[in-house]
Amino acid sequence: MAERSSAIFWVLNCPIYLLRCYSHEKRLEIIQQWYRTQLKAIIPALIDKWKAIVGVEINEWGVKQMKTKWGSCNIEDHRIWLNLELIKKPLHCIEYIIVHELVHLLERHHSDRFKAVMDKVMPHWRIYRDELNQLPLGHNDWS
Ligand SMILES: [Zn+2]
Repeated sequence: MAERSSAIFWVLNCPIYLLRCYSHEKRLEIIQQWYRTQLKAIIPALIDKWKAIVGVEINEWGVKQMKTKWGSCNIEDHRIWLNLELIKKPLHCIEYIIVHELVHLLERHHSDRFKAVMDKVMPHWRIYRDELNQLPLGHNDWS
């Protein structure tokens, strides 16, 4: 359903058209906010599913824009961060990053133990990792 009185046309909660009267920065902000809302909507169910499988608890999670990493974690605080750009990737890639960060709560380094846990809980993780690494980390050129 399109709303004509607004400068933004919302279709299925997606801003499909932003009038030129918005600055480049404002349009980018609206799009990024929309991506953030979409990603935050799907994460809780994925975390609930995978923390039970991995066997860890987390205190907090968040989404942020990161230039070089898909995810990060604070082992002491049991907190994980996910890159906002993940919303543009296939669901299994988002799940892989969530699992990867959750497994770090058991094992800090990418050691044999880390890989053994990954193999056990997500046998195809290497395929997902390689797929993700072939995709660009971010595309922020909205001009
Ligand atoms: Zn890692």
